[in-house]
Amino acid sequence: NEDPRIHGIKTKIRVVPNFPKPGIMFQDITTLLLDPKSFKDTIDLFVERYKGKNISVVAGIEARGFIFGPPIALAIGAKFVPLRKPKKLPGDVIFEEYTLEYGRDRLEMHVGAVQLGERALVVDDLIATGGTLCAAMNLLERVGAEVVECACLIELPDLQGRERLNGKPLYVLVEYQ
Ligand code: AMP
Repeated sequence: NEDPRIHGIKTKIRVVPNFPKPGIMFQDITTLLLDPKSFKDTIDLFVERYKGKNISVVAGIEARGFIFGPPIALAIGAKFVPLRKPKKLPGDVIFEEYTLEYGRDRLEMHVGAVQLGERALVVDDLIATGGTLCAAMNLLERVGAEVVECACLIELPDLQGRERLNGKPLYVLVEYQ
């Protein structure tokens, strides 16, 4: 009972072994963007899920959350808030650190971009260990927003990132084993 559009989307995602380093199966969504039908199907599937759910803010994670988040935000009548890597945002920020395979990184959000009580959707291209989405949710919850759901195109279920989301619902279009 999978939506027939999902198969087409799957075939457009290019898997690049050993990029950017040995052992990583890189899921390349740039090939999906080259196909207007599949790109539109991707956005439409998210919009159909979130339209009418009173979501006031779509928070997109740098960099590929900036590709998929804004068209979803426009279609559901929500604002878009970029969650960025360090030292990119010019205003006052709050930040959350998260662990990477080697070392740590952080996500920043502008103070005042999201208000108490807002209903938020977090968008990224892919969930691996879940650390990035977890940091994004913490930023939104610290300013009193309610994270309604996280949405990704791709999940790598073997890495069990879902378990790091503290029970928050995660919606994905494609699983890559
Ligand atoms: P994680 O925090 O471990 O869930 O990693 C998710 C973030 O890293 C997302 O922003 C992805 O774009 C990126 N990422 C991690 N693994 C991959 C992969 N195999 N292919 C493409 N992007 C990845």
